Amino acid sequence: MSLIKLIDIHAHPPTEEFSTISGGRYMRHAAEYFGISNKPKTIEDMIEEYDRAGIAKAVLVAWDAETATGLPKTSNEYIAGMVDRFPDRFIGFASVDPWKGRVALKDLEVAVRDLGLRGVKFQQAMQAFFPNDRRFYPIYEKCVELEIPVQFHLGMTGAGSGAPGGDGVKLKYARPIYIDDVAADFPELTIIGLHPSWPWQDESIAICMHKANVYLDLSGWLPKYFPEVLIRYAGGLLKEKCLFGTDYPFIDPARWLQSFDELGFSDEVKELILEKNARKVLGI
Ligand SMILES: [Zn+2]
Repeated sequence: MSLIKLIDIHAHPPTEEFSTISGGRYMRHAAEYFGISNKPKTIEDMIEEYDRAGIAKAVLVAWDAETATGLPKTSNEYIAGMVDRFPDRFIGFASVDPWKGRVALKDLEVAVRDLGLRGVKFQQAMQAFFPNDRRFYPIYEKCVELEIPVQFHLGMTGAGSGAPGGDGVKLKYARPIYIDDVAADFPELTIIGLHPSWPWQDESIAICMHKANVYLDLSGWLPKYFPEVLIRYAGGLLKEKCLFGTDYPFIDPARWLQSFDELGFSDEVKELILEKNARKVLGI
């Protein structure tokens, strides 16, 4: 076990750019939902926490939901800057706003080819789009061309949680079944579904079982709260498809790992989930 180099497949910068500027009132509600402080931290604070938790690398994601939220993005350039400062610790993932059309395609191309980012994350509830809407298929075509994996948020979101009307955020966009279409129509595209997809966990497990190109990360929830069905599949039939993720800063990395340890998985399963599956997906 000691030889494992832990890779967190899903983390946000804890800095003002994301927490306050891009996140606005949505992240205030998310912080309440997760029971954490909404006070921004520095990237050095983050590295220190990862050191303490013994995590070698994290996928750091950008955030662009400008059309739907009206809030400024945490840009791909910003994320690339963090990767440049800590190249051993971070792998950068882009974000593009699907509603920007041709600009989104260009942003993605620049993010990967010029800035060196290695994947893209979508948060459909915040970006207000259905992943299987054919208007956005050119983005997935571009991902295949650039040979990068795609992340989709699945299920409940802390953003807007507890606010009247959920701050206008609609959960329907985050239903897993819509990514099944994308996985079927783009068999060469590697898709990572994010989070135990409550209340649609069974749906995401079925898709992951059925589509070789779909993976599931385990971020955003402490493992002790995982539904029984997820624990069973992660330790068995889907042991080569589940990935360690935190959704930092919403989940404390050391607490996640401690809770994961208590599930009692074999060393083989732990190694797959904490490192090997991520290496495969990221091509590193
Ligand atoms: Zn996230």
